Amino acid sequence: MSGRGPSRVRALSVAGTDPTGGAGVQADLKSFAAHGAYGMAVVTALVAQNTHGVRAVHVPDVAFLRAQLDAVGDDVTVDAVKLGMLGTRDVVEEVAAWLRRTRPPVVVLDPVMVATSGDRLLDAGAEQAVRALVARADLVTPNLPELGVLLDERRAPSWAAAVDQARRLARSAGVTVLLKGGHLDDDVSPDAVVDARTVVELEAVRVSTTSTHGTGCSLSAAVAALRPRRPDWVSAARDAKEWLTGAIAAGEALQVGSGRGPVDH
Ligand code: PLP
Repeated sequence: MSGRGPSRVRALSVAGTDPTGGAGVQADLKSFAAHGAYGMAVVTALVAQNTHGVRAVHVPDVAFLRAQLDAVGDDVTVDAVKLGMLGTRDVVEEVAAWLRRTRPPVVVLDPVMVATSGDRLLDAGAEQAVRALVARADLVTPNLPELGVLLDERRAPSWAAAVDQARRLARSAGVTVLLKGGHLDDDVSPDAVVDARTVVELEAVRVSTTSTHGTGCSLSAAVAALRPRRPDWVSAARDAKEWLTGAIAAGEALQVGSGRGPVDH
């Protein structure tokens, strides 16, 4: 071993699966690789889904989740974690307990709740546990509907109102928020990095395409992979967003599925 530290960021995804490779841990691993990280994955839920939607979800017993988390943590130094689909309250609480035992230096929480297809990926009874988990993360990456749920408020009616909500969440939970504006009806798709004191907007032209399956997963994994070697969240988020815009634009050419296809990682 050289004394210089690892050649790559060791990044772990804790998330559900997508056997068609567009979302979940499969997308996270591709996103990690695209950003030069060494990817690892702990599976929270097995999801039978494709580009049209979710057919079935199987959540293994939490004891098995704990065994996976400990198998990684007992052996490997984790530089960054991305938390994605957690599914049930038991899973959320198990992950929170693991974060109390092993606190990796970078924790990104993508508060996955409902797939774009409309299928629920988080039990309604788990929302309170996810609210509590936010304070254990360094960065949380909600879209507008998820931000409303995290604050137990209505979805913000405008971008300005959403930025205000994000600022309140940043203050109350002591977390940085990467707010995603993809749900706005607009020809731009702004995102913003919001902490207790500052708001930095990251503008991007909206790409007109149906290939947006798994964009949230891919973005949060990219930011997690980049952050250990970037000076701050703004720099990591800006590079991740620029990469994602290109990946979305290249998605249709993959010709994967006849529904909402994946981005090209
Ligand atoms: N499936 C899994 C396992 C996920 O983690 C996510 C993440 O957000 C999705 C599906 C949602 O994908 P989308 O809403 O982009 O279709």
